[in-house]
Amino acid sequence: MAFPSYYPYVIVGAGIHGLSTAYHLAVQLKARGRGTGGDVLVIDKTSIGAGASGIACGVVRNNYFQPAMRELMAQCVEVWESDPEAYSYHPVGYMQISPESMHEDVASIAEQQKEIGYESVFIEGEKDSMDYMKSLFHDWRAQGITSVLHEKKGGYANNTSSLYGLANKAEAEGVRIMTGVTVTGFESAQDGDAVSAVKTNRGDIGCDQVVIAAGPWAKQFWDMLELPKTVDIQGKDGELHKDIPMWVYWSLQEGTLGVDPAFQVTNAGEMPPVIHVDSDAPLYSTVDGSLITDRMWGIYYKPDFHFGGVQGGAAPFKVETDPEEVAVDPYGTESPEFVVGTDFAHMWCSALAHCQARFEGRIDRYKNEPSGGIGAFTPDSFPVFDTFRENCFFVADSNHGYKMIGVGKLVAQELCGERNTLLEPFRFSRYAQGRLHPISHSPFPWS
Ligand SMILES: Cc1cc2nc3c(=O)[nH]c(=O)nc-3n(C[C@H](O)[C@H](O)[C@H](O)COP(=O)(O)OP(=O)(O)OC[C@H]3O[C@@H](n4cnc5c(N)ncnc54)[C@H](O)[C@@H]3O)c2cc1C
Repeated sequence: MAFPSYYPYVIVGAGIHGLSTAYHLAVQLKARGRGTGGDVLVIDKTSIGAGASGIACGVVRNNYFQPAMRELMAQCVEVWESDPEAYSYHPVGYMQISPESMHEDVASIAEQQKEIGYESVFIEGEKDSMDYMKSLFHDWRAQGITSVLHEKKGGYANNTSSLYGLANKAEAEGVRIMTGVTVTGFESAQDGDAVSAVKTNRGDIGCDQVVIAAGPWAKQFWDMLELPKTVDIQGKDGELHKDIPMWVYWSLQEGTLGVDPAFQVTNAGEMPPVIHVDSDAPLYSTVDGSLITDRMWGIYYKPDFHFGGVQGGAAPFKVETDPEEVAVDPYGTESPEFVVGTDFAHMWCSALAHCQARFEGRIDRYKNEPSGGIGAFTPDSFPVFDTFRENCFFVADSNHGYKMIGVGKLVAQELCGERNTLLEPFRFSRYAQGRLHPISHSPFPWS
């Protein structure tokens, strides 16, 4: 097929957001009699799943302290549930297991989940929390836990399988997906600010509407579109915080313990929910008993056949390098700079053993292979979903987003002229207007 010179809709990035937008846009255009999937082109410089979506742990949860995030996640879980087979989705549920310092935050999450009809169980108190966890895992032993939020929905999905599932659905609707096409810039319309063509290494593609879904490469596209490098934020403290950098990178820490995934079944012999534990109990080494940390720490884990073991991660760290200098490429496991090291393996395996006796002495099964990757975060670490330059929709999920498969559906509706209230709290104008999301006591920047 010849390289196209024009498409009504050009979507950049074949990750979860680009592919979900493409598929849902094709469906929406047809349903409204406004076109077909044949009007939609997805381009990616490498391949389907070459970015963050292809290495994501795949956890799907609702556990967010911010009401707007919770409501959005409930919509996303509905999309996962709409075709579990194609999306390779495992609805095993999710557990947030917390110390007293997070009790109040998590109680309010549980309360509001009830209000929006998102099924979950909330256990309070140290003894009841321990009993509840032991009823699931006989070897549970984490100390200092005073609440357990057990979300009955959510779970995880297999990263690349779900992307190919989405791509197949999009292509079945007539969407064209071209890989090996690198965007190098944008052509502006003569009579305004709109983008008239996407410039690529293989030629220009004229378009009416662009969607940018570039994950960790968000800053590069932000710069290509000549959007502001810094923002002024009207803080909740009443102060105007000036010249805050728009982008900062965090390094995600994940790895796999190479045991049979069935090693982590529940007492009933079933595949367990995804476990997320935050704790302020001192964490000691499973290797030599030395103190690893006496500060707040957190881990998550799940048995996963796709990764071949018990896979999970720990809190990320901020990349201190000037964002202008951070090398996003080569990305993920190919990066010489941003893969996890032995410190992560030691901490994570020790934390697993802190929680469940079955992990004691298992650090030798840790898979010594590259894992982890960086994410591009916004100034408040929450997504920006908005239109810039008149016809350029930017999906910048601030690394929240493999689970956000439903955002593409909302973006598609918006491109068809129907704005959804679920996206409103994520507009760029919130910084100047001080409409900021509440901040939790979690050690993770995304809770
Ligand atoms: C290690 C790790 C674990 C994670 N775990 C989870 C999790 O468990 N649950 C969860 O919800 N989220 C998780 N995330 C976050 C999640 O993966 C991302 O938020 C999400 O995948 C971003 O999706 P995307 O479609 O925006 O971008 P991506 O999946 O990164 O896709 C962007 C695409 O853009 C392409 N591209 C870049 N530049 C160009 C260019 N110039 N021209 C053309 N194409 C270009 C890339 O090749 C890439 O394929 C994790 C992230 C990491 C790094």
